[in-house]
Amino acid sequence: MIVSKKSESNTVPKIQLIKCSQPKKCPICRTLCEADDTEEIYVCVFCSFGIRKIGSSANDAEHEEKNIYEHIAPHLLRQRRLENEYLELMMINGDVINIEPLGVAPHDSYKIIFKIRTIISPIPTYEDLLECTLTIPPEYPEVAPAITANNTPYPWHVNWFQNGRWCFGAWNREEPLVSYLYRCAKTLQFDPVFTNPNDAANNAAIAFCNDNENNKNIIPCDKKTIPTIS
Ligand SMILES: [Zn+2]
Repeated sequence: MIVSKKSESNTVPKIQLIKCSQPKKCPICRTLCEADDTEEIYVCVFCSFGIRKIGSSANDAEHEEKNIYEHIAPHLLRQRRLENEYLELMMINGDVINIEPLGVAPHDSYKIIFKIRTIISPIPTYEDLLECTLTIPPEYPEVAPAITANNTPYPWHVNWFQNGRWCFGAWNREEPLVSYLYRCAKTLQFDPVFTNPNDAANNAAIAFCNDNENNKNIIPCDKKTIPTIS
């Protein structure tokens, strides 16, 4: 087993970030790092993810060079990220999205209860609650998590498969689970901004989607504020 020397550090990681004095979360491992505006290199000490910014005057073309985290074993990165994301998920846990970790820490599955009024048929008919399972794969964050409804009736939505699995669209390893749940909740609300009939998981729902996209009595079907963190 390869163990990074940096992963053994118990001190608060320090991130060096040009022209930034605010603490910043590493986009790869979600570790909150101190900022330091005296250095020109921004590197997460835990996973070594870094961005170098070059050029500081208005005439200079400022560009970023992204480095790959190369000094950390993937399973250690995943573990750290899951630990950090558990804390983030607990920050949004509440009445609208109820989040229960499953198994032992670092949790890679969660029971998620969305208390959102969701369309379940083209009539339309509705359900006020949807219980799902969030599953995080061994290859995370290189491979996307999955959200699947635990019980019928499943959401009737152009971006939900008819077997109850949410079609998340594109995956970016830098997307936090909090954001992932936010997007999922927005589809359950049938928010037009988060609905994509051009990438349909349920072709039978395309016509419903197009017929109702301007009918504000139907879409969105729920207007609760979805919790998130900055
Ligand atoms: Zn990191």
